Amino acid sequence: MADNSKKHPANPSSCRHCGNPRSEHTYPRSGPMDCHGYEEPTERQILARMLARRAART
Ligand SMILES: [Zn+2]
Repeated sequence: MADNSKKHPANPSSCRHCGNPRSEHTYPRSGPMDCHGYEEPTERQILARMLARRAART
């Protein structure tokens, strides 16, 4: 699992596997996210990311 939380918290709706936005999961599989397809995050992941974004702003 990629750790990009140091740069900026993931968008709440980003991929559940890697935290990158859906637009980076390109087809045919030629981009950097070629090991899996975009999947919506779980409610728990969305909540955690929203909290992380809020914490990062303060
Ligand atoms: Zn992904």
